Amino acid sequence: APVFDALSEKLQATLDDVRQRGTLTESDVNAAMREIRLALLEADVNFKVVKSFTNTVKERCLGADVLGQLNPGQQVVGIVHEELVSLLGGESIELEFSPRPPTVILMSGLQGSGKTTAVAKLAKHLKEEKGSSVALAACDVQRPAAVEQLRLVGEQAGATVYDRGTELPAVDVARWALDQAKQDGKDVLIVDTAGRLHVDAELMAELVAIRDAVRPQTVLLTVDAMTGQDAVNVAEQFSAAAGFDGVVMSKLDGDARGGAALSVKAVTGKPILFASTGEKLGDFQVFHPDRMAQRILG
Ligand code: GDP
Repeated sequence: APVFDALSEKLQATLDDVRQRGTLTESDVNAAMREIRLALLEADVNFKVVKSFTNTVKERCLGADVLGQLNPGQQVVGIVHEELVSLLGGESIELEFSPRPPTVILMSGLQGSGKTTAVAKLAKHLKEEKGSSVALAACDVQRPAAVEQLRLVGEQAGATVYDRGTELPAVDVARWALDQAKQDGKDVLIVDTAGRLHVDAELMAELVAIRDAVRPQTVLLTVDAMTGQDAVNVAEQFSAAAGFDGVVMSKLDGDARGGAALSVKAVTGKPILFASTGEKLGDFQVFHPDRMAQRILG
């Protein structure tokens, strides 16, 4: 992901330098941590997250008595890698499926975050990877254009779209769509919800009402990686007001600095489940923290 290019370059330079040394002193470790700290801050990683990350890496380096060992640099690189994986969420996480279909997935997010696109991408992904029959519920009834957009991308993704235009309240559409999905024997129902430009109480109340009505297996939040620390703040607000289980990190193909992807798990406690990396429906992947860390460290 290009969002990590600058970070990647800086971390690799620092770690190459560490790796090349035959021995390491405590002050070498401190110097390396300063470089890593700067690189993470420049990548727009939350400053508390940066502090805790470099403290942990440093303690582990000194605690493991790395300095006295053969190839100390290699061990430091290993520790940075492990901590980066953990920062990105640790193990990659699979969506849960209900033993009694349909599995319901509720998609939340601000307007413009890439939420509707992510709904269609997820539908296509589940259809192709799991062979699921997928339906979408058009519960963004604030804007007629949103319903129209979901119809369009849903069709492209090969999903059935249940919509009632903007005639009914969102909660009623959600209930109705769930009944339809049961009748039609769908494996998965993905519920698209209203986005706003900012988190507001009305939006959160509607989200909670839909959640209570359809009892989703998983609530996802789409956040825009391009908005950096704002994305993390938005995630914190959604977490406090409505709650969610995992993140779809969108626009990871952009030229923003990647800090959101590196901060969101540590700040909200919720992992990134999927990465969205372009405007096409196929630009969507399961998020693998270990592979991402590997790519960053080269
Ligand atoms: P919503 O308002 O949150 O439902 O956002 P949309 O799904 O309509 O997406 C807003 C804009 O972002 C659209 O122009 C999308 O094509 C674009 N978009 C969505 N996801 C991505 C992505 O992963 N990468 C890029 N480059 N653009 C994206």
